[in-house]
Amino acid sequence: MTEKNTYQPETLAVRAGTQRSQFSEHSEAMFLTSSFTFDSAAQAAARFIGEEPGNIYSRFTNPTVTMFEERLAAMEGAEQCIATASGMSAILACCMGVLKAGDHIVASRSLFGATVNLFGGILKKFGIETTFVSATVVSEWSAAVRPQTKLFFLETPSNPLTEISDIAAIAVVAKQCGALLAVDNCFCTPILQRPLQLGADIVIHSATKYLDGQGRVLGGAVLGNKKTLEGVYQFLRTAGPTMSAFNAWVFLKGLETLKIRMDAHSANALELARWLEAQPNVARVFYPGLPSHPQHALALKQQKTGGGIVSFEVKGGKDAAWHVIDNTQLVSITANLGDTKTTLTHPATTTHARNTPEQRAAAGITDGLLRIAVGLEAVCDIQNDLARGLA
Ligand SMILES: *Cc1c(COP(=O)(O)O)cnc(C)c1O
Repeated sequence: MTEKNTYQPETLAVRAGTQRSQFSEHSEAMFLTSSFTFDSAAQAAARFIGEEPGNIYSRFTNPTVTMFEERLAAMEGAEQCIATASGMSAILACCMGVLKAGDHIVASRSLFGATVNLFGGILKKFGIETTFVSATVVSEWSAAVRPQTKLFFLETPSNPLTEISDIAAIAVVAKQCGALLAVDNCFCTPILQRPLQLGADIVIHSATKYLDGQGRVLGGAVLGNKKTLEGVYQFLRTAGPTMSAFNAWVFLKGLETLKIRMDAHSANALELARWLEAQPNVARVFYPGLPSHPQHALALKQQKTGGGIVSFEVKGGKDAAWHVIDNTQLVSITANLGDTKTTLTHPATTTHARNTPEQRAAAGITDGLLRIAVGLEAVCDIQNDLARGLA
């Protein structure tokens, strides 16, 4: 494929990155091999010292993984994409690549639970400190900056409250203090939002979610320009949390339908959010596509649709929230999201259970909160399933 940059994202999702082997296969091949052979000792030597491009070992590169990386890079408008074994290993690789002991992170308080634990717990052990600030109040980001600040990290819309961070405004603050801005683009995917175009330096993905889209495999990605990601690639190649060729092949196929899935998830989510807002036992609905969302205008500016995640607060706290879950017959009770199957979860006792009550309160995760990742079933069937527990 030539002139990549002139194609629309949905075209890139189907076509970018494809490389054919000697067999001229039409669908991308899965290269299940741990290592690659050389024609001679001299060629092996040239490959190992980087004088000749080419595959050596699948911890370094693999053709199926490379196809996935090039396809996602084209869609995000990134110079480089580095695929990882999971979304969390993408975040870890990003930090290992761009930070050292003594550095400081400014991060949104409204992050995926494991990201909070990685920053606040594991990285802290290695001398990297994190200050958590509001996802939405830009002045808190500038106020938290120290001379050692090297990385800004946010997720928008956030999980599970769908708070919207102003990527362009926070990118300006990051630039002023010489820090890199990394955006976890898991909820939107490049179909709905392209953070690099808004001034971010790094995009993170949990490919496990919408990029696969059918709840099959784990994977992640770090995207940005080559200079920024140099250390990330070295970390991955050395430490080894790389994506498997099988998973990369699943993600390649997933990307091909990403546009139509994101459109359908978004349309279903908007309809369900409007319905939830009208239910007497629902105290509040959080969905960026609703005019009642505090950052609705920013969401419309920054992302194409509201996305597929809706959170809502049930009147009556934890018991009422569990009652909704336990009366469903159709939707899946699971913490995963970004699947064709609708999933329902109670963040306070699952995804955010290992956060302290103080961390949960600071992130606005109340006991009555439910998160629904709206799938591709008929909306009326999802509504009927929730209506039983809400009655
Ligand atoms: C799931 C998720 C992650 C972690 O991804 P894994 O693939 O489960 O490691 C990171 N960020 C967000 C926003 C997520 O939803």
